[in-house]
Amino acid sequence: MKNRICVIFTGGTIGSLASGNTVDLKKESKSALIEKYRAAHKTDVIFDELRPLNILSENVQPSDLEKMADCVRGVNKDDYDGIIITHGTDTLCFTANLFSQIFCDIKIPLVFVSALYPLNDSRSRGVENFAGAVTFIQSADFGGVFVSFENHGENVKIHLASRLVSASQIDGNYESVLNVHFGEIIDGKFIYNQNPDNPALIKFKEHRRPCEAQKLCMDMVTIQAHSLLNFDFYRFKEIKPKAVMVQLYHSGTVCTVGREANFKNFLAYCKSLGIQVVIAPIDSSARVYESAIGLTEECTAAYDISFEMATVKVLLALGSGFSIESVLAENYFFEKLH
Ligand code: GLU
Repeated sequence: MKNRICVIFTGGTIGSLASGNTVDLKKESKSALIEKYRAAHKTDVIFDELRPLNILSENVQPSDLEKMADCVRGVNKDDYDGIIITHGTDTLCFTANLFSQIFCDIKIPLVFVSALYPLNDSRSRGVENFAGAVTFIQSADFGGVFVSFENHGENVKIHLASRLVSASQIDGNYESVLNVHFGEIIDGKFIYNQNPDNPALIKFKEHRRPCEAQKLCMDMVTIQAHSLLNFDFYRFKEIKPKAVMVQLYHSGTVCTVGREANFKNFLAYCKSLGIQVVIAPIDSSARVYESAIGLTEECTAAYDISFEMATVKVLLALGSGFSIESVLAENYFFEKLH
């Protein structure tokens, strides 16, 4: 144990204070997190602080993610027990899934923390999430990318970053896909979740192949299936994406009858323009509904990963010059559910 953690501040409300009805980033408030943590927890851990950027996460640009990633690359992992990244909750899910891929082989724990509310708001869980990250780092004897997050009225949960799904609407709670979190902080200790859908702890000590795809691209459109979705409004006359992702219903289906709502017609349109269409999520072990028969042969299927993870993989493939199929086939950091 080196008793040293590197904290990378990137912004979000965890680095902000509320004034009136607006939340803005204040430079001087950043270390408030560590001060508040020290005030509430007896600790001799040394925190080294880095501040590559200070943004509300909804405003993130590819260059910001690059800066954040370069900052992690620049940390000498031999000097630290772990790395904590502070991040806004709005795009936490994307960055966490992304970093679970590009840092899949990191040898120390890299843990994302966020606050949802400014630290001077009594509803903020920033300090608790930070404390959860510290506890997890101190107990984990393996590396990887994780998220420490306390939902309303629960213990702090530790999630595999590769399985984190988008926050729930309005209240901003976070869960892992299948609702199986990696572990929990109970009475100041990390307790691994024995659910059989979790990878066994021993697996984390095995060698992981680095992810070759490290660069992102934004030339993609995502469309979410919903009742009465009219695909005819998606016409790419002026500007053409490299790929289109369609988020299927939870049972791996989408409408395949009628005219404008028919995904098969949209698929034929995209094919005529040479645009690759990717569908997710699809459980390879589930029964196929009649409406979905033949779909996976007509487009690219992202099997057994969350839609969020599929998005990251497609953007990494497009940005790094790999085929989408080859990146989807990899299981870099336990993202594959089976
Ligand atoms: N807009 C904020 C952000 O994502 C959301 C609240 C938060 O920081 O958690 O940066």
